[in-house]
Amino acid sequence: MNSSANDFLHNNVRVLKSRVSKTAYQAVFIAMVAIIIATLAACYLSRGEISIDGIIHVQSTNYALWILDAVPFVFGIWGQYSSTVIAYEASAMVYDQTRELREKADVLEQEARHSATHDALTDLPNKALFYDRVSQSISAANRSEQPVSVLLIEIANYSDVNDTLGRNSSDSLLKQVAVRLQSAFTSPASIARIEGNIFSLLLSGKESRQMATHTARSIHNILEPIFFIDKVKLSAHANIGIVHFPEHGEEADTLVQRAGVALYMAQNSNQGYAVYDSSFDASSPRRLTLLSEVSQALDRNEMELYFQPKVNVRDGSVYGAEALVRWNHPRHGLLPPDEFIPMIERTRTIQTLSLWVLKQCFTQISEWRKQGLDLKLAINLSAKDLHNPELPDLIAGLRGSTGVNPSWIILEITESSIMTDPEMALEVVQRIHQMGFQFSIDDYGTGYSSLAYLKKMPLTELKIDRSFVTDILEDENDRVIVNATINLAQNLGLQVTAEGVETPEVMALLNQYGCDIAQGYLISKPLNLDDFHQWLESYKP
Ligand code: C2E
Ligand code: CA
Ligand code: CA
Repeated sequence: MNSSANDFLHNNVRVLKSRVSKTAYQAVFIAMVAIIIATLAACYLSRGEISIDGIIHVQSTNYALWILDAVPFVFGIWGQYSSTVIAYEASAMVYDQTRELREKADVLEQEARHSATHDALTDLPNKALFYDRVSQSISAANRSEQPVSVLLIEIANYSDVNDTLGRNSSDSLLKQVAVRLQSAFTSPASIARIEGNIFSLLLSGKESRQMATHTARSIHNILEPIFFIDKVKLSAHANIGIVHFPEHGEEADTLVQRAGVALYMAQNSNQGYAVYDSSFDASSPRRLTLLSEVSQALDRNEMELYFQPKVNVRDGSVYGAEALVRWNHPRHGLLPPDEFIPMIERTRTIQTLSLWVLKQCFTQISEWRKQGLDLKLAINLSAKDLHNPELPDLIAGLRGSTGVNPSWIILEITESSIMTDPEMALEVVQRIHQMGFQFSIDDYGTGYSSLAYLKKMPLTELKIDRSFVTDILEDENDRVIVNATINLAQNLGLQVTAEGVETPEVMALLNQYGCDIAQGYLISKPLNLDDFHQWLESYKP
């Protein structure tokens, strides 16, 4: 026991003992009173009066009084003794419990500190701790003039594993990757997991710059052997972005952000890694920052739906509209979907955007129908949506909350989105179709889809891509393709929409070929909601 514990114990003993002693003194006092009363009573009984003589007499001759006289001493000694013992025992008990509580508090504190700085899944340092270590290494490097390198390692096929095998498997993959990295790179290299599928490695010391590219290659080697996850064999494909301090940045934030730019360049390199170069900035940061801004853009109401009218070719009457998303970006102005959709289609953010688009569209069409507008709304789905097994339930939920009749909606899918995983896509499409929703095959003619697969899809409409339609008058080939496609579709019982109709002549030819619906600048460009309403009011077939 250390000296502070000793002090603690002795103090407690003193306090407790003084309390227990007080009780012992009371007992002694009661015993004394009892002796006096007994002596007086004995004196009166033997002499018939109370006198000093009589008291001395009974005190010296009455054995019972002798015994009684001894009681205060016994109480006194016993009380002192037992009060000491009890005080020691009680204090030791309190001390033990206090120590136990202190130890428990220490453990909890340590655990809290650990979980604030470590990732729960892999137990590796988290983003906060990693930034901390990078900053520390930078300070140390400033003193010793030794370089520091940061590598960001992205497990590129993580979301595919997640989409096809589920969260448990993708989590297991990350755990196994973490174990391999950790066992390969021990201190002073520092491994962390800083985001879903992104690990990071910090190298410091004289050799770190030369080591970085070598390390990137080793990481590829380390991750090359197959992973076994629930008896399924999986491989992990990594992209690695590399930055060096001080030439690529002097602060942790800049370095990690630029490592992200290098990572982005690595995705398109053959080696699977790239060292940051300032020339990358021209092409990538805008796209990279856009990517990180999409989720906030939805919260901030920066996304807006535009509507492009679709009309019946035969009589020019309004058939409906296609919903096309736009981004009112605070710095870049109105961004067309081609500037951000292809980029976010590679990430799970597309699902957030698609859900937003679906919600807006369901609300809008039910609004129009309430106003008596007999429109049909076309909504674009992306490939990732067709690989999202939750999509049918999301749509079922939206239908329930908005009261939309599925026949008011037509969902546009592309050939390429079906072909990446036909089985999965077919299942998702069929479940949605069973609720009564219709499907359209978009950009028809640009993909390589087999008709066999298209026949399996429950399609209502085929949309001929505008690249064939716009030049139909000048290009003989396009004319043949469009004519043949219209015939083919009609034989399969599909309605045909031609996109990109820009002139009355094209419209006339399409009418001649028997095309059902037209969409294009001739009729109208995509319009925001107010303009679309005005167009509806002023439009005359
Ligand atoms: P898309 O589905 O093929 O949409 C038609 C595109 O053609 C639209 O471009 C439209 O403005 C344009 N267009 C229509 N008529 C004409 C015409 O006569 N001439 C010419 N030159 N172009 C015409 P936009 O709005 O820029 O959309 C581009 C693509 O972005 C869309 O192609 C679609 O693939 C995607 N997209 C748009 N909104 C969404 C969305 O909400 N979700 C998803 N997943 N994709 C979307
Ligand atoms: Ca479309
Ligand atoms: Ca299209």
